[in-house]
Amino acid sequence: MENRRPLIAGNWKMFKTCPEAVETARQLAQLVNISTVDVMIAPQFTALVPVSDVIKRGCVSLGAQNLFWESEGAYTGEISPAMLVSAGCRYVIIGHSERRQYFGENDDSVNKKIKAAIRDNLIPILCVGESEKERESKETFNVLDRQITKGLEGFSSNELDTLVIAYEPVWAIGTGKTATKEQAQEVHRFLRSMVEKIFGNILAMSVRILYGGSVKPDNIKELMEMPDVDGALVGGASLDAETFSKIINF
Ligand code: PEP
Repeated sequence: MENRRPLIAGNWKMFKTCPEAVETARQLAQLVNISTVDVMIAPQFTALVPVSDVIKRGCVSLGAQNLFWESEGAYTGEISPAMLVSAGCRYVIIGHSERRQYFGENDDSVNKKIKAAIRDNLIPILCVGESEKERESKETFNVLDRQITKGLEGFSSNELDTLVIAYEPVWAIGTGKTATKEQAQEVHRFLRSMVEKIFGNILAMSVRILYGGSVKPDNIKELMEMPDVDGALVGGASLDAETFSKIINF
């Protein structure tokens, strides 16, 4: 890994009520005191403000799991980038495979969401990854090529200077199956080369590429040893403060 600062991000998905999220965040804030790694947790929307209050003096940052691209308006049920910023968010996860699978998100909506995040100075975490069927039919690189090319269409490299990419093979999310460190490295290298091809060497060298898919305390170290793995996006294992802190302190 060049000089890229590792990022360990927790996606709490649709788990934890407000009090539960606050309690886990409180425990995490007590367990985590690290200056060499960036740490982020993304609780559900209603827990953002109370969790923000609990973590604001520590080294854990807040993220959201989604946003809508408009600034405001008659969009019942949606949330704007400025609303997330005012709730204390620094990061936002965009295009998670569960959003693509269950909520009709596609490369076009992902592109608009990244634009909106950047407009309001949120750090976008763009999720990409192939399904099991796509991997088996040797479509992995085509799928990732499309997700990156379309997801990042129309940006200049300057605009993307905070961008984080998360490689999350769909077959490894919540399944207990982890990509081997070699599989992760192969894809991360490919993603970095795509960023280089489209945006040039400077962004390619600085963009952080996280691995996500059944990351646990016992596999994080070997993944982090790979030169193009710059951190992890963690689902299930981020829900428990002690387990997540072990991943953070890999
Ligand atoms: C995720 O939801 O982004 C994820 C990687 O989940 P898990 O760690 O549970 O596989």
